[in-house]
Amino acid sequence: MVILERRSRKGPVLTPSSLPCLKGVPAVNITEGCAHGCTYCYTQGYSAYPGAGRVILFENTPDLVCAELTRKRRRPRRVYFSPSSDAFQPMPEVQDVTFRTMEILLEAGVEVAFLTKGRPDERFLTLFCRRPSLVFAQIGITTLNEDLWRKFEGGAAPPARRLEIIDNLTRGGVMTKVRFDPLIPDLTDTETNLASLLVELEHRKIRDVAASYLFLRPAFARRLALQMRQAVGKADLTRDWTWRRLADGVGGGYMIGPEERDRRFDRLQKLAAQYGIDVHVCACKNPDLTVRTNCRIAGPLQDSLSDEAMPLFQRATRCY
Ligand code: SF4
Repeated sequence: MVILERRSRKGPVLTPSSLPCLKGVPAVNITEGCAHGCTYCYTQGYSAYPGAGRVILFENTPDLVCAELTRKRRRPRRVYFSPSSDAFQPMPEVQDVTFRTMEILLEAGVEVAFLTKGRPDERFLTLFCRRPSLVFAQIGITTLNEDLWRKFEGGAAPPARRLEIIDNLTRGGVMTKVRFDPLIPDLTDTETNLASLLVELEHRKIRDVAASYLFLRPAFARRLALQMRQAVGKADLTRDWTWRRLADGVGGGYMIGPEERDRRFDRLQKLAAQYGIDVHVCACKNPDLTVRTNCRIAGPLQDSLSDEAMPLFQRATRCY
């Protein structure tokens, strides 16, 4: 059971992120904590993490966003949801606040990008399909295996439901990509696991995947290592992992070394290419790799966008 606590947020909401893959795009968390409760969630190591089974909802987010849009002389072109939580957690109160916030942004001509492992309710599809060129979706999924899903991210949407969400979004004209994150070495990055997923993505005409590997924060390293050992039924998969510093703002964690990661990304890129899919490596979590790309977590790079949003962007003078 998840306990929901309502709070009013203080301070500005639309402040640009410093993370390399977000490149100055404002990033909004509707909550602190996440009802999906993925066992590997790196936010468990954050000082603001409210603890397992507890979610703090910032219910005044839509009002603050509305006020900031009205006040700002230069509005952001795009806003990203959510760096440290999921905007589509299975709680109506959370989805209501997400809906109102996204609706205000879209009505003002501001693009909305999101990454989710959740289940956006029906009204989101209607909202996104009204302005598909302003929406950039990324669906996080690393396996079709229900057993692995239950063990590591059982509070999030089941794999089949996530594929359905991809179907609905792409059918509605929303640019939709997929994120393999976190890949767990020898568990979800195996050829068997990934090939079955890539077949489904190819079938849905997904052409871009972003990828990154699991890293362990000290706060949950031991528990997750044990869970992984139980899941594969063999020796500790993490015994050779070393502490790596990640990009500024992401901190650090125990993970496989750079050569090993490079080799595995290379293998993934070759495998995905057989299905016509490009793999982008997350720069925030792989600053130690010589060949890095931007994983485009918040949609395509801004200078490659159409200018369809701009007239709306300039015209909008108030929130609804
Ligand atoms: S969905 Fe994302 S934010 Fe939520 S628990 Fe899982 S990894 Fe963490």
